[in-house]
Amino acid sequence: ESQLNPNYNFENFLEGDSNRLARNAGLAVANKPGGTSFNPLLIFGGVGLGKTHLAHAIGIDIKDKYPEKTVLYISAEKFTQQYIDSVKKNNRNDFIHFYQIIDVLIIDDVQFFSGKSGTQDVFFHIFNHLHQNGKQVILTSDKAPVDMQDIEQRLLSRFKWGLSAELQSPDFETRVSILKNKLYRDGVEMPEEIIEYVAKNIKTNVRELEGAIISLIAQSSFNKKEITINLAKDIVEKFVKNTKREVSIDYIQKVVSDYFQMDVSTLQSKTRKRHIVQARQLAMFFAKKFTKASLASIGSQIGKRDHATVLHACKTVDNLSSTDKQFRKYVEDLSKKLSL
Ligand code: ADP
Ligand code: MG
Repeated sequence: ESQLNPNYNFENFLEGDSNRLARNAGLAVANKPGGTSFNPLLIFGGVGLGKTHLAHAIGIDIKDKYPEKTVLYISAEKFTQQYIDSVKKNNRNDFIHFYQIIDVLIIDDVQFFSGKSGTQDVFFHIFNHLHQNGKQVILTSDKAPVDMQDIEQRLLSRFKWGLSAELQSPDFETRVSILKNKLYRDGVEMPEEIIEYVAKNIKTNVRELEGAIISLIAQSSFNKKEITINLAKDIVEKFVKNTKREVSIDYIQKVVSDYFQMDVSTLQSKTRKRHIVQARQLAMFFAKKFTKASLASIGSQIGKRDHATVLHACKTVDNLSSTDKQFRKYVEDLSKKLSL
């Protein structure tokens, strides 16, 4: 069982500038698995941009062209779980052997290996074996290898051996074709104006784009309403609101440090230099404003301070923004950056 989803094929993976390199690399690999320099092929990009879909498409195409080859798709999470089980059951060697005889191994979301040294170690050995024997390895990740954290150097260097191809957010035309293709496959007709409205307003993530169109179809059929532009506006608005990501304290610290051009570690440090103290206080203020975390939890995440320090920081920021014009500008700029 290859675990491939037949709907995630190349035909349904619409091409655009945002994915052309990755898609073409995928096709090249599918034509000659193990026989190109794209080994491993690593597909990376943000959530909902088509990594899993493209990984399946390559596997399906290989199965079509080379029915005798064994192709296996597995998520990094499941792979890790299997490995842990094999250790518990004392059959780690069987686990390794199983993977070493596969012709095309596809592992999805390898960022999941972060910090898991046992799994990284076993994967390192499997990878080397496959690679030396001309077998194809296809990986996906939410980040480029240079940005991966807590992955051993020797593994990262293997990731860079082949090709790393990025999936970016699709442009407007590609979003329109993705929607049209989806509607066509579902046999649903929709006015051009509405398709374009949805494509114009949902930009960053194909999964959300599809989600909006699915709710639109569902709403209109449940309520026996025609699909109108007003219904579309309603749904898109709700969709954009609901999927607004919750900002994390990590993210706040990153945005604030970037804004003041310092490292997060500087922002968290014990120094009493005024501009660093202010950056830290701003991070605490926004953590209080934009997250549900308690003062104590905010303090412990921002440089191991106590809740009184956080409370003091929030008051200081309030005071300074009403008395100091420059400081008020910081607060306004950062508010904008954080509420996107
Ligand atoms: P990721 O693994 O990067 O989070 P997925 O592969 O799960 O993203 O894709 C999310 C959804 O968007 C899937 O339903 C997928 O079919 C669809 N999708 C993504 N990119 C495209 C594309 N270029 N053409 C058609 N559908 C796409
Ligand atoms: Mg995925």
